[in-house]
Amino acid sequence: MIYRSPFRAKSRQTTAFKKQGNWKLGYHTGIDRVCDTDRTLVAIADGVVTRVSGCGQSYGNHIVYRTSDGKTVLYAHMKDKPSVKVGAKIKAGQKLGTMGNTGNSYGAHLHIEIQSGATWGYGKNLLDPNKYIDWDDYTQEGDFMAKTWKNGSTTEKVYQTVADCKAKKNSIGSLSAKEEAECVAIVDGCYLLTYSAGNTTKCGFVAYPGGVK
Ligand SMILES: [Zn+2]
Repeated sequence: MIYRSPFRAKSRQTTAFKKQGNWKLGYHTGIDRVCDTDRTLVAIADGVVTRVSGCGQSYGNHIVYRTSDGKTVLYAHMKDKPSVKVGAKIKAGQKLGTMGNTGNSYGAHLHIEIQSGATWGYGKNLLDPNKYIDWDDYTQEGDFMAKTWKNGSTTEKVYQTVADCKAKKNSIGSLSAKEEAECVAIVDGCYLLTYSAGNTTKCGFVAYPGGVK
């Protein structure tokens, strides 16, 4: 599986994977990257948080999570201790924290490691992050949600709950191709929209993301 970028904008590599140097193992166990325009760090894949740690070690504030396809990902040197809890399910694109300079760091950057094992171990089962991450895939969900949703060319059914939306049952109405709506949240792949119907504002879930513009 190829993962999205951990950033929400274009980023650049500052230290390569397996670079020889002053590290405990004699080489760099991950990749360092910097994003100059947005320090937000997001999950590269769906997964489960397996470790959250505060400052004081070489990795500084860091998080470890297991991806849905069984790899383990570490983000180190984060600005703050991540607020998500161990065991929490996370979604690709979900915010996990902010790029920082905590621990043994030389300036704000993300140190990211990917391991093939289900649990994290220093220098264990290391994979080259460049082979698994598409750094140019930094779709900004926040941007998307701020945009006006337009239905495109088809009428879209609206549902009251995510479950109904997924099952395409019990629709509470529909949005015509010309109606406009605001997307306020994405829940389990369904889009929660608000839209005006006469004098009232309605809200509901739609399954179709193709109308976003
Ligand atoms: Zn590093």
